[in-house]
Amino acid sequence: MENKERVPFKYRFNRTILIRALVLTVIFGFAMFIPLAMKLYDISIQSHDELEQRALDQQTRSYAITPGRGSIYDRNGVALAMSASVETVCVSPRDVTEEKEAVIADGLSSLLGVNREIIVEKMAKKNRANEKIKEQVEKETADKVREFINDNKLTNMVFLEPASKRYYPNGSLASNILGFVGVENSGLMGLEAVYNKTLSGTPGRTVTARTADGVPLPEQYEMYYDAQEGQNLILTIDETIQHFVEKHLETAVIENKIAKRGCVIAMDPNTGAILAMATKGDFDLNEPFSIADDEVRNALGMLPDEEYSQALSEAQQSQWRNKAINDTYEPGSVFKVFTAAMALEENSFNPESKRFVCDGSVHVGGHTIRCHKAGGHGSQTFLESLLHSCNPAFIAIGNAVGPENFYKYMKAFGFMDATGIDLQGEAKGIVSSYEAYAADASAQAVYSFGQTFKVTPIQMVTALSSLANGGYLMKPHLISEVTDSEGRTVEKAEATVVRQVVSSETSATMRAYMEQCVLQGTGSNAYVKGYRVAGKTGTSQKRDIPDASEKGLYVVSFGGFAPADNPQIAVLVMLDEPGLERSQRMGGYMAAPVAGKIIADVLPHLGVAPQYTEAEAMTVDVTVPFVMNAAINDAKRTAEQAGLKVRIVGEGASVTDQLPVAGVFVPANTEMILYTAGAEKPADTVIVPSVIGETPEKANEILTNAGVFMRPIGAQTLAGTSALKAAWQESAGEEVPFGTVIQVEFRKTDVRDE
Ligand SMILES: [Zn+2]
Repeated sequence: MENKERVPFKYRFNRTILIRALVLTVIFGFAMFIPLAMKLYDISIQSHDELEQRALDQQTRSYAITPGRGSIYDRNGVALAMSASVETVCVSPRDVTEEKEAVIADGLSSLLGVNREIIVEKMAKKNRANEKIKEQVEKETADKVREFINDNKLTNMVFLEPASKRYYPNGSLASNILGFVGVENSGLMGLEAVYNKTLSGTPGRTVTARTADGVPLPEQYEMYYDAQEGQNLILTIDETIQHFVEKHLETAVIENKIAKRGCVIAMDPNTGAILAMATKGDFDLNEPFSIADDEVRNALGMLPDEEYSQALSEAQQSQWRNKAINDTYEPGSVFKVFTAAMALEENSFNPESKRFVCDGSVHVGGHTIRCHKAGGHGSQTFLESLLHSCNPAFIAIGNAVGPENFYKYMKAFGFMDATGIDLQGEAKGIVSSYEAYAADASAQAVYSFGQTFKVTPIQMVTALSSLANGGYLMKPHLISEVTDSEGRTVEKAEATVVRQVVSSETSATMRAYMEQCVLQGTGSNAYVKGYRVAGKTGTSQKRDIPDASEKGLYVVSFGGFAPADNPQIAVLVMLDEPGLERSQRMGGYMAAPVAGKIIADVLPHLGVAPQYTEAEAMTVDVTVPFVMNAAINDAKRTAEQAGLKVRIVGEGASVTDQLPVAGVFVPANTEMILYTAGAEKPADTVIVPSVIGETPEKANEILTNAGVFMRPIGAQTLAGTSALKAAWQESAGEEVPFGTVIQVEFRKTDVRDE
């Protein structure tokens, strides 16, 4: 209705004026409209396709606002994986002018180390506005690119976008569990992959409408979606314990010439929290695609081109594999502790009075099963059968449990299911179906001593923990907490009991029995002075490989915990295919010392103080005091109070020099030498002789005669035995100052546990 309202008279134009105005408008307007009309013709008809693409690219150019990827910390807040800011160097080909093409190709190629041809190819995609030339460029290089852009007036043609890069400050530490990310910052392996969503957060987005020239339209055309920052993972892993574990495992893998890698899991047996988990050989998380093993890398280099990429990919997969959860192995004699626990729990016999006779072999279901001791162990108690690791005795013990019960306990201890640990690709263990097991007359006999079925290392350490903690099978886990970007707790993991497998009484008995396995049995080499270590050794042939026995293909292992009366750590050590000769190829010789060294390092770290027996106190390590310049009598008293004997050289009234030097550890009762005026400490150096293979007494004699002190470590039997031999020492063949303290590790050599 309004439109039809008559315009009031007073606003009507004078007709003449109106006509003039119209004429002028037409003339000027049209003249001005010509270039615009031509441009419109060009845009809408001639360059239609190209411009439509440009419009899509440009008029709503959207920016992803990448949230920071969360960090991964150990249980004490030590960063294991973190992201740092980097930049991506891009070109906008549609903005690159012809005269600048060569400048850009040359400049970026030399600054970024990118092939010039690749840059030229990317710049040729003239309808594009954003071609990535190089990602993850660090600040130093990015600053040079900025300078290059300014100097050559390349704004809009070359630009930088913010991005982030993942760093692993400890290199290879915990590589098989942390995993790594791809260039797009998406987790590819390990925890980075399992918790990718938690760590990566949700990207925010700003969508901006732009003119065809790429100029942003005013803000009201912009839409912003909030980014959700990535959350942090706090692991149950203790970085220090992980270091201890990796150090000792790596040494064992090298020393024992392990062909198929080895692994260790350290768990809090009371909660199922993983304190450390390692596989060696491993890889550098900052260079995950490079082959870390020199031999493997060199072998790859020799391959013809057509075989190379396949072989490289296999080598990468194999170094990334987490042996502790992805691989299965025959547990061998370590499994005997479960057979023993079943018998105790089922009251299958009186464990105090029942005797088991071994005459060297036993016939079951048409097979002859031999004991590792030729001629047999004779009559043994239940505990002795375990200490001897006697197969015929364990067949009888398994029989007493009964096949049906035995199988039920195999399941209850978790050997038939994945543990559900928060990592990818957990294997399940390989146990016969009940039907196949029941139909085979010898199946249970062989299962009783841990053969013909396979378990994973994580299943084994979890089951061992149940014997340690009062009978509870715990769910193993690696994440203790998830926090947001402000550090506030979002989620907290709690210890999860899967089920109670045995009673607290059975658990207590097994703790005591397993301690005896270390004190008097095949586990001696896991002994640690001052700490009560419990555990069992195992050596198993790789039966599923043809001629495994002839080829010497074995797996050696040790599983245990400490302290035996109040376990704080459970440890499983597994070494796959040791290369040493048969007499040394034993879990008791190779794997037990690894566990012992780990426990010796970890318990003090966990605040568990050593408690020495009277006998241990006699040889416990003491710290050499500083007595230089002291009066002779004062120095003598100080040294004796520290637990050392004293020898005085010279006639002076005060100490001018001392050996060993202050601060080093030596066994109590070591003779300290005090030099006085007129008696010079020998200034010479000495060559440390090798004592490998010698008894402790002989080794001490050799080293003392050479002018150095010996500090024995490793297995020590209270009753003394000729089977104790030096297996490792410091500085053999090296030149050291007179009076240096040399560590020598002794191992029991008669630890047969096949
Ligand atoms: Zn026997």
